[in-house]
Amino acid sequence: MFFNEDHNNIRELAREFAEKQIAPIATEIDHTDEVPQHIYDAMAEMGFYGLKIPEEYGGLGLDSRSYMCVVEEICKKSIACALIFSSANSLSSAPILLAGTEEQKQKYIPGIASGKEFMAFGLTEPGAGSDAGSMTTKAVADGDYFILNGRKTFITGAPFAKYCSVFAKTSPEKGSRGISTFIVDMSLPGVSIGKQEEKMGQRGVSVCDVVLEDVRVHKSDMLGEIDRGFATAMKTLSIGRIGVATQSIGIAQNAIDEAVKFISERKQFGQFLSDFQALRFMIADMETKLNAARLLVYNAAYKMDMGEDVTKDSSMAKYYASEVAVEIVGNALQLHGGYGYSKEYTIERLWRDVRVLTIYEGTSQIQQMVIAGIVLKPDGAAPAKKPDAPAAKAEAPAAKPEPPKPAAPPPAPKPEPPKPAAQPAAPQVSAPVKPAAPAAPPVAKDGAQVNILVCVKQVPNTEELKVDAAAGTSNLDSIPSVLSTFDACALETAVRMKDANPAVKIVALTIGPDKAKDVLKSCLSVGADKAYHVNDAAFGDLDSLATSYILSLAVKKIEELEGAFDIVFLGRQANDTDSGQVGPQLAEYLNYPQLAYAREVSVVDGKVRATRETEDGFVVVDAAMPAVVTVTKTEYDLRFPSVKSKMAANRAEIPVFAAADLGPEAAEAWSPAKTVKTYIPQRKTGGIKIEEETGELSAEKLTALLSDAGVI
Ligand SMILES: Cc1cc2nc3c(=O)[nH]c(=O)nc-3n(C[C@H](O)[C@H](O)[C@H](O)COP(=O)(O)OP(=O)(O)OC[C@H]3O[C@@H](n4cnc5c(N)ncnc54)[C@H](O)[C@@H]3O)c2cc1C
Repeated sequence: MFFNEDHNNIRELAREFAEKQIAPIATEIDHTDEVPQHIYDAMAEMGFYGLKIPEEYGGLGLDSRSYMCVVEEICKKSIACALIFSSANSLSSAPILLAGTEEQKQKYIPGIASGKEFMAFGLTEPGAGSDAGSMTTKAVADGDYFILNGRKTFITGAPFAKYCSVFAKTSPEKGSRGISTFIVDMSLPGVSIGKQEEKMGQRGVSVCDVVLEDVRVHKSDMLGEIDRGFATAMKTLSIGRIGVATQSIGIAQNAIDEAVKFISERKQFGQFLSDFQALRFMIADMETKLNAARLLVYNAAYKMDMGEDVTKDSSMAKYYASEVAVEIVGNALQLHGGYGYSKEYTIERLWRDVRVLTIYEGTSQIQQMVIAGIVLKPDGAAPAKKPDAPAAKAEAPAAKPEPPKPAAPPPAPKPEPPKPAAQPAAPQVSAPVKPAAPAAPPVAKDGAQVNILVCVKQVPNTEELKVDAAAGTSNLDSIPSVLSTFDACALETAVRMKDANPAVKIVALTIGPDKAKDVLKSCLSVGADKAYHVNDAAFGDLDSLATSYILSLAVKKIEELEGAFDIVFLGRQANDTDSGQVGPQLAEYLNYPQLAYAREVSVVDGKVRATRETEDGFVVVDAAMPAVVTVTKTEYDLRFPSVKSKMAANRAEIPVFAAADLGPEAAEAWSPAKTVKTYIPQRKTGGIKIEEETGELSAEKLTALLSDAGVI
């Protein structure tokens, strides 16, 4: 109802990334209080920082629901990993998008969208939290500059921020109507970072004070008109609240999953906890409330995408989802009993992580004030429609409360700026080494054009396999296909060659039923330029001989369209498993040399070069091109696609060849008539043990036996 195919694809990508890359290290992130740089780099590569940012400023220009799908999936595994890219799409970029000039947008937003430059959001002060309008940070005009003095507190990501949007009083006598917004370069003289807050949860992302002492900010770095900054802050928060609401439903879902797992495995009073009705009812309540929250959140995002004023909707979503999430996680912890109080269980972290969601970006009480303020207005109109009447402003307390915080610590030395996305190691051709495997990526020499075909196979995603042993049934036919892990190595090897040499062109090919198209889309999403699908119901289950024959016909057919291939890649299973004839057979049908057990692959002096592991270490082998290359299982994991390439792959047209398209010979290839004799061994107890002196002699003996039996 709220989502289209693109949203579902983006969600799937984020879910896979969260499950494979984040879940295994989520506890470690909490323990070490640090999100590894490679996670930030991967998310930057995938485009997460610019999901909602317009394309003209380096983002993907997607809608709020796309952003929400990603935040929800990442937060299911670790909210710490979501905070910075979530902020990039809201609190970091929104003030500039809302109030900035074209020049400011061009200057600051691309860095935020790429994940290379983080911009913190500096609104809260020690004495001005919910009542942000009572801030005391001042900006005084001085020629072409403003001089800023003050202290911002609880600023997320301040230690690695390159910039901070700072809200400061330019006309103190006007209260909240005298606030302006400035982009402060964190390296300016007078800017320092206070000590890092020791937070109870959301460990991995630092929250610090930002201290401003006579900081000279050029007037070109003021955002929007003078004295109009408070409206910018409130509008930004209204956008950001949908993000916090989404964080809430992500964490709550994780909590329910953890609770269900726990009570389904633990027994008390002789039965599983999940069999106690009282606990089942708790789960029912948790699930119902989560889904109610989810609808509010999705609805707010949908309305935002429709261009509606969502001041009330985003406050309702943030208020309800965060309150319900705190309740759900608390109940999920309760269901764990004493184990929920132990750091060994995920729920303990979730309980600490979730607690702040009813506090930051406007407490629940502030959301209630916003909602009530709109409902109680005669026309129900959102105050946000009047820019000078901020949506979330609380009634100013009579006296300014002193911050109930310990005395401000002296500014700490400024930490290192954010680390940009890691650059791949310089490519080089590996020499034979012993005993460790060479680690450098492969390279194609001289940037020469290299045409690569990667043959891939779809296999059922066994993670989704459900077997009903009693009924003797399974969902095997209906579960989605995934790329065989061996073929994924071959594909990644080819894509690495393309990284090193953009003149490498990759075509993916599969033989399989309709759903095999999904694995071709996976190939396109990570770097294949084209994909072809051979699909004919008449093929049925092809044996390896027929597979290699059909592949050879398809290769010839595709060569007519794409030009001759230099390398035909196959995964390891084409060489050293029970279907291991496909590699050698395909090489024979094509009349190409075969290079098996390849690891690092490159093209050098017109030859394909591969590193191979032997008993003595590694050797380098060259083969003339064109060649069939079977890639052994490497340590390479297939890369994650970017959001953009995943969406493009999903829309790509994939040509399909039926048997007839491959020529009349194809119809013969899998014919049962070709089978001379099928040997069905009689059931016997025991068997014949062949134990000759050498393997060769044993093979001879076996051949003789099979020949006598008429099998060969
Ligand atoms: C982890 C974390 C990250 C943060 N990141 C940022 C950031 O990046 N940038 C930033 O600017 N700020 C940030 N904040 C600050 C956050 O937005 C504030 O903590 C929040 O707005 C509440 O302000 P306060 O802490 O001063 O609480 P207070 O405003 O002092 O509120 C205390 C209590 O009083 C209630 N209350 C206050 N006024 C009223 C009223 N009129 N009626 C009824 N109840 C009321 C509140 O709801 C709350 O329960 C962050 C905070 C945390 C904890």
